[in-house]
Amino acid sequence: MNICMAGALGRMGRRILELAAADAELSIGGAFDVPERAGEGFSVGHESGNASEVALSVTATEALEASDVLIDFTMAGVCMDNVRAAANGGKAVVLGTTGLSDHDKKELEVLAHKVPIVFAPNFSVGVNLLFKLVGEAASVLGLDYNVEITEIHHNQKVDSPSGTAVRLAECAADALELSYADDTKHGREGMEGVRPVREIGMHAIRGGDVAGEHTVAFIGQGERVELTHRAHNRDNFARGALIAAKFAVHAEPGLYDMQDVLGLK
Ligand code: NAD
Repeated sequence: MNICMAGALGRMGRRILELAAADAELSIGGAFDVPERAGEGFSVGHESGNASEVALSVTATEALEASDVLIDFTMAGVCMDNVRAAANGGKAVVLGTTGLSDHDKKELEVLAHKVPIVFAPNFSVGVNLLFKLVGEAASVLGLDYNVEITEIHHNQKVDSPSGTAVRLAECAADALELSYADDTKHGREGMEGVRPVREIGMHAIRGGDVAGEHTVAFIGQGERVELTHRAHNRDNFARGALIAAKFAVHAEPGLYDMQDVLGLK
């Protein structure tokens, strides 16, 4: 199975290529980054003793020619061009880029009629378990327990809150019959007044090189339950993206998430 990496020079792209080089089931069919870097080459696979050269293509279409699946970890605002190119070429898609607009998400639903698309804000197995646990905890504890979400990421992250924190809030909101759009409070400052019962608090911390940390606190009278996931490095996301790629190439057209890939639904 041949993968095509979009955002090949990025933090995630490099780890995905490195882990793909170590996987006997996978080959690197193509890779690209911003057009200015086209034509450059670099080597991957040193960690596994399976070194090979990767050359960056000019366009997504060119990079996809010899590939079965596009894996995109780029930027909101540009990733949809790559997804469109893959869908038009009949290639499966694994989309990890976060911060997509509602318009982009609607377009994904349309493109998923043509090809399988796995779109997940977080490809880590542990975080996907956390999504399930948060829904279950919220169902049991109910609105008597205030839900407050804290996420910490490195100081280079551009979107806030993280896509994972948004999904965690959606999991709690679904279980509590709240709406993420209407009932989420992003930070607090000044005379905010008493905390409404029908509210999910969201707080984004940025600093250093933190790969990703999420805590969902259920705060009641006299006790608090906290569910935390800490990513030690980016390999848990990269491994998950490759598991998703193997799922996607055999799937029917449709929009999937990592819960589908892991059978957690
Ligand atoms: P990064 O900035 O290190 O890498 C992004 C790369 O995309 C850069 O090399 C950039 O040059 C490249 N790029 C920009 N425009 C492009 C284009 N038009 N075509 C091809 N490449 C282009 O960022 P990162 O830390 O690797 O994260 C990338 C994205 O993945 C972010 O949205 C981040 O939030 C998300 N992310 C998702 C998960 C997950 O599990 N879903 C995990 C980590 C990061």
